[in-house]
Amino acid sequence: MLSRWGPVMASSHTVLMRLVASAYSIAQKAGAIVRRVIAEGDLGIVEKTSATDLQTKADRLVQMSICSSLARKFPKLTIIGEEDLPPEDVDQELIEDGQWEEILKQPCPSQYSSIKEEDLVVWVDPLDGTKEYTEGLLDNVTVLIGIAYEGKAIAGVINQPYYNYQNNEKQKLKEHRSEAKAGPDAVLGRTIWGVLGLGAFGFQLKEVPAGKHIITTTRSHNNKLVSDCVTAMNPDDVLRVGGAGNKILQLIEGKASAYVFASPGCKKWDTCAPEVILHAVGGKLTDIHGNALQYNKEVKHMNSAGVLATLRNYDYYASRVPESVKNALVP
Ligand code: AMP
Ligand code: MG
Ligand code: MG
Repeated sequence: MLSRWGPVMASSHTVLMRLVASAYSIAQKAGAIVRRVIAEGDLGIVEKTSATDLQTKADRLVQMSICSSLARKFPKLTIIGEEDLPPEDVDQELIEDGQWEEILKQPCPSQYSSIKEEDLVVWVDPLDGTKEYTEGLLDNVTVLIGIAYEGKAIAGVINQPYYNYQNNEKQKLKEHRSEAKAGPDAVLGRTIWGVLGLGAFGFQLKEVPAGKHIITTTRSHNNKLVSDCVTAMNPDDVLRVGGAGNKILQLIEGKASAYVFASPGCKKWDTCAPEVILHAVGGKLTDIHGNALQYNKEVKHMNSAGVLATLRNYDYYASRVPESVKNALVP
């Protein structure tokens, strides 16, 4: 396009902010797909490595939706999704082309203003908390889109499709499927986003009361190492819930003080987006030894040395990780 002033730029916004704005809209569509699969009633569950490592139709459709939508707009990105899917033509209906204008109104932190598309790596967990999804614990589920630059997680989007949904553990999954809705005035689902140096948005930051040690940890991937580490924290309370995204939301909303997972099992797509949201509000996420996680495209996917994350008082929890647990978890 030409104007009186010469060629018109396609957009005055930086690549990073355009990517985050697109990821926001893409994550919203993802949330709608997660709800639609439940409403249709056929989860299409497949076991991956074990009975606690599952994939559903929602994991598959959402990954196709997110990865194809991003690749169309940003063809030079490196996109790494959790699910191994055969290459196939993606239904046009799964493509999201929108971008969230509110994000484009925000300034790009200056250290990221000249990032090029090919410099970015996007880690996609289409559905985090799949085991819980299949059991009707729907508010444990999140969709995670994390963005990394030079090996560091710098921006992220989390959609929680069933925010405002009231779980009742005693109800059967069948009932959940037909009653997957919020209270009378509540809007079902929300999207949270953040960029380092700019902040995190879409939620109300809250801290656990001072002096209380509330640990959140895995519900469906527990083992002796995890239990030993949690016990060593001398907790006032232990919450066992599904999903890495969900546990980070508990930290930033004052429900838990530390996320402790002293085990391999959690992957880079589980931690990338949640880590950004936590770091953007002053928290800290590392492996169980205190090492920062790396997110360059060559890195191994497994977080072999576990996860330790807090909003405040990181040192209290880090200092209580037993040596025996550290010795058992090699980075
Ligand atoms: P959880 O806290 O158990 O919900 O785990 C957080 C994330 O790590 C989820 O995406 C899990 O699927 C994944 N994860 C943790 N442990 C394992 C495991 N042993 N096998 C497969 N995935 C795991
Ligand atoms: Mg996950
Ligand atoms: Mg997943």
